[in-house]
Amino acid sequence: MSFKPLLPGSTSASGQQITLGVMGGGQLGRMFVQAAQAMGYFTAVLDPDPASPAGLISHFHIQTPYGDEQGLAQLMQRCEAITTEFENVPAPALGTLGAHRPVAPSAACVAVAQDRIKEKSHFVQCAPLSGVYPAPYAAITSAELLAAVPADLLPGILKTARLGYDGKGQVRVNNRDELAAAWAQLGGVSCVLEKLMPLQAECSVIVARGSDGQSVSFPVQANTHRDGILALTAVYEGAVPAVLAERARASTVAIANHLNYVGVLCVEYFLVDDGQGGLDLIVNEMAPRPHNSGHYTQNACDISQFEAQVRALAGLPLPTPRQHSPAIMVNLLGDLWFDANGVRAQPSAQPVSPPWAQVLALSGTHLHLYGKLSARPGRKMGHLNITAPTVAEVRETAAKVLALLGLPALDA
Ligand code: ADP
Ligand code: MG
Repeated sequence: MSFKPLLPGSTSASGQQITLGVMGGGQLGRMFVQAAQAMGYFTAVLDPDPASPAGLISHFHIQTPYGDEQGLAQLMQRCEAITTEFENVPAPALGTLGAHRPVAPSAACVAVAQDRIKEKSHFVQCAPLSGVYPAPYAAITSAELLAAVPADLLPGILKTARLGYDGKGQVRVNNRDELAAAWAQLGGVSCVLEKLMPLQAECSVIVARGSDGQSVSFPVQANTHRDGILALTAVYEGAVPAVLAERARASTVAIANHLNYVGVLCVEYFLVDDGQGGLDLIVNEMAPRPHNSGHYTQNACDISQFEAQVRALAGLPLPTPRQHSPAIMVNLLGDLWFDANGVRAQPSAQPVSPPWAQVLALSGTHLHLYGKLSARPGRKMGHLNITAPTVAEVRETAAKVLALLGLPALDA
């Protein structure tokens, strides 16, 4: 279905308020809903969980499984256009919706992002345009392909082709024996083996592309992961070397264009040692949606990644976003709630809330909690955006916040 502008606050031909729909009710759906509602749209969320973060605040919450025909029919009946907030929504469900309503991103784009084998071959196709390649890899879909893996991919990381996230579904392997054992451990499912790269840093880029083919990109963010989960994002001049940041932006736009993508797309990159004392850029993976590393845009840019998603879906103009403040984003995992007697990862009977009053007393701190009813170790409960007029000040405030929360210091 083609996109035509859905003006905020207007009514559809059938007289109902223009309503934007989202498949999935997690925190990304919630922040999409918040951005859409701020602009005057009604929203509908499809998620089976009655307590889903987005469902709790949406005008309409359809509580059925993602593939449920009646649920999908209700969503289409309610909504003028539909997006998704997580890549594991069944692509056929998006296909059904897309036959009747504008859906962004399309089922075809989401299907590429859902499968690391398709995703990497897409990156390889785009590489001649930008000069940015994925790490050397091999697809492993049979015992024969496992046996034929080139020796120079070891040591490597074996990753399931589907359903991996936050470092799950990955095993590091040093030799062929470990590789065979890891493949068996992952159930013999389709995988990719990637060469282990000498990472110096990681970064990511958010682009938003409209149905007219015009795209805008946000500033490039530098990411720090801990235990496979994003811990910190820093976005200011110098956080990523300027030449590499420009290449990453160009690569991301090429990836979006080549897919004829509509909506918000995030692509992750590695900065690796080039063996000559410099750094090279490697494309890692993409998310067909707003991304945790783009949350800083809520408080540091004049358009957030969620507003960009709303605009792309509603066929509204997408001017280039401007970052007005240096920013650091700190992820708030459930571990922070289990602080009694210094014992982390052990839920106490009465979880202790982190010291928000002290954190919020520092200027430039912006708290975003997702309304999740129970905290678990490793669960994303919220994030904190820190902004300041200068890089030195944003780092100073971040250092204080990290100390108050008992988290590792910057650059640690
Ligand atoms: P996920 O879907 O879990 O985010 P990623 O492919 O992004 O999967 O891998 C998670 C993290 O593991 C990356 O952010 C990076 O720190 C590390 N990693 C992944 N692939 C490689 C690689 N080929 N070489 C070195 N480190 C890697
Ligand atoms: Mg990743």
